[in-house]
Amino acid sequence: MMPYDDTNIFAKILRGEIPSTKIYETDAVLAIMDIMPQSEGHCLVIPKSASRNLLDAEDAALQSAMVEVARLARATKSAFGADGVSVMQFNEAAGGQTVYHLHFHVIPRYEGLVLKG
Ligand code: IMP
Repeated sequence: MMPYDDTNIFAKILRGEIPSTKIYETDAVLAIMDIMPQSEGHCLVIPKSASRNLLDAEDAALQSAMVEVARLARATKSAFGADGVSVMQFNEAAGGQTVYHLHFHVIPRYEGLVLKG
């Protein structure tokens, strides 16, 4: 696996070098709206610690991130009037990852609507 590279777009967002639509922040994570949402309310929970993905992340970062993922899942479901929520996470190119800083997709789901893809 490649080492963590801090030139990725989420590292730049975390450093405040490029803009994002921030919706929530703690010492451990930043949550932003996804720039290409697959459904209304699609957001991303980005742990602040420097991990490429799930495969190199430390337990403490994963534990705190998952608490925040659940919090964002409840909040987005309520705020957007969704019927359910999908949580997705991808690792390495073969696993569908395109941005190499650990992140979790929180995707509100609506009865009868398929994801935009
Ligand atoms: P993944 O690596 O396959 O999980 O996908 C990365 C996600 O980041 C995609 O859903 C993109 O739409 C999203 N994304 C990429 N650049 C930005 C950005 O600058 N702001 C917000 N979301 C982004």
